[in-house]
Amino acid sequence: MRFASLGSGSQGNALVAESGRTRLMLDCGFTVQETEARLARAGLAPSDLSGIIVTHEHGDHADGVFPFARRHAIPVWMTYGTLAALREAGAAVENCPIRLVDAAIAFPVGDLLVQPYTVPHDAREPVQYVLSDGARRLGVLTDAGCATPHIEASLSGCDALVLECNYDPDLLEGGPYPPSLKARIAGRLGHLDNATSAAILASLDRSRLKHVVAAHLSQTNNTPALARAALARALACDPEAIPVATQDEGLSWRDL
Ligand SMILES: [Zn+2]
Ligand SMILES: [Zn+2]
Repeated sequence: MRFASLGSGSQGNALVAESGRTRLMLDCGFTVQETEARLARAGLAPSDLSGIIVTHEHGDHADGVFPFARRHAIPVWMTYGTLAALREAGAAVENCPIRLVDAAIAFPVGDLLVQPYTVPHDAREPVQYVLSDGARRLGVLTDAGCATPHIEASLSGCDALVLECNYDPDLLEGGPYPPSLKARIAGRLGHLDNATSAAILASLDRSRLKHVVAAHLSQTNNTPALARAALARALACDPEAIPVATQDEGLSWRDL
């Protein structure tokens, strides 16, 4: 099992996980052309994908989902709330093979088992995912406003974690965003700051943990060095050992 980020941040997110002949894309917040280019950079063609699993309706995660799925006839999984929100926002969902996700029920796609879990975020029915090939587990957490026991239970015992480190509170407070946006980001349905992400990491069973990746960093309210330092403190490791999935480059393949 292995995974790569095609790009991570408020301008667009997509991640690919692979086991055997199964490859799932997690979110697609890029245009069709951009997604194809980023897949090619990871050595993949659209036809290599078995499906797209979607976390929530925000544009940086969902804008490219239906155009890409329609163009390449790829099935899409999302919660009913996410689908309803996208429909109400005018997304053209016709001719897209859509499967509904129950946020409490794991489902198989080829060689991967997909376990959704609910998170606090200002979307209709947001979930995040743990992907497993039966032997190894990859946990992904972005777009959550605070830690919950359910998040910690879901991510415990993973072999790899991709964790949102959205902002540093001082940079957010002193930064250029309007007060309403600052309050939204820092609120309990907003995004994870470096310290909260590190506290989640510190609370987990890390006995199998091989990879921790910092993701969804704000380019305005955070720096890779601050995110790395926070997660490294939780792991008592060298900050340079923490890779960052960036907006432009994403992250190259990691083997679990
Ligand atoms: Zn996001
Ligand atoms: Zn979001």
